[in-house]
Amino acid sequence: MSAFDPAVADVRLRIRERSLPLRAPLGTATGEIRERPVFLVALAGTFAGGESCRGVGEAAPLPPWTEPVGDCRLALEGAADAVAAGAAVDLGGLPPAARHALSLASVDARARRDGVPLSRALAAAGDPPAASVPANATVGDGSVAETVAAADTAVAEGFDCLKCKVGARSVAEDTERLRAVRESVGDDVVIRADANGAWDREAAARAVEAFAAPDVDLAYLEQPVARDDHESLRALRGRGVPVAVDETVNAPDGTDGWPDPIGEYADVAVLKPMAQGGPEATVAAARDLHDRGVDTVVTTTIDAAVARTAAVHVAAAVPGGGERAHGLATGDLLAADVVDGDDDPVPVADGRVAVPTGPGLAGDLFDGVV
Ligand SMILES: [Mg+2]
Repeated sequence: MSAFDPAVADVRLRIRERSLPLRAPLGTATGEIRERPVFLVALAGTFAGGESCRGVGEAAPLPPWTEPVGDCRLALEGAADAVAAGAAVDLGGLPPAARHALSLASVDARARRDGVPLSRALAAAGDPPAASVPANATVGDGSVAETVAAADTAVAEGFDCLKCKVGARSVAEDTERLRAVRESVGDDVVIRADANGAWDREAAARAVEAFAAPDVDLAYLEQPVARDDHESLRALRGRGVPVAVDETVNAPDGTDGWPDPIGEYADVAVLKPMAQGGPEATVAAARDLHDRGVDTVVTTTIDAAVARTAAVHVAAAVPGGGERAHGLATGDLLAADVVDGDDDPVPVADGRVAVPTGPGLAGDLFDGVV
């Protein structure tokens, strides 16, 4: 009987903390990010059938989507102490990023034992995971000229889906930026916008009206209002631009606060596996959302390669995951990673990511990083 996975005996847990610098500071609604603290976790032991058990996981905490880094460290150290003492660890009682690390290590180990890619282990039986998934490029806030230049660069690199950050300027200025991007990239590129909860209902309504115009043709507007302003989300539906939720459904306190029924509040849900508590929880949530008429887009929290690779497997395993662009092109934001760039198992090429085909996350590629 193992500490947190009943199928594993003699379980050992190793944790390594690293801080990965970003290439350039990233401005967000909650301040500037210069480096990403990550916790790498190695799970070892013996399965009940006698096979050796090896799995790797990662926690990359990023408030407000997950618990703070200190809480994540405490939770993982507590889990390691419990494992060393042979005591039980209740994964459901851990905050989401710490839970992600341990549940990823566990499902990686099981998929490696079974000789199947993680995407196959996560997908529903009879529903084959996608072999590759499209990725969107993120276009940050900037002047009209800066926004168009960033959009043109991304399209030249092969991306056919752009996510433009909005909400830092007036609705009129953001409309001008999006209209200029549409004019520059043409009709075949999908344009999304993410306001990160910047607007009140009145400003969001003006944005939806402006972004619905054919010369913008926005695919969806993400988190137009604050995470808990559920009634405004509902009021913005059906006005010509689909509404996506991110902060509303990725909160460190779990899914209890989701508006219900979710299909009345959102057309699309952006799910971050790091905030959902792991790959299996994310795919389960995506299946539930699908049954309620809500599409899922999977995004990282600017993770290191371990969790980024897991997010690619998750995107391939969610319903319709191969047809929708996901927020997976974030590896280039890091100046250093847990593996060299040449060893990145999920590089973005022509706006797509091929899903690794080896057992588990990426075979034994990550065994040396912890
Ligand atoms: Mg977002």
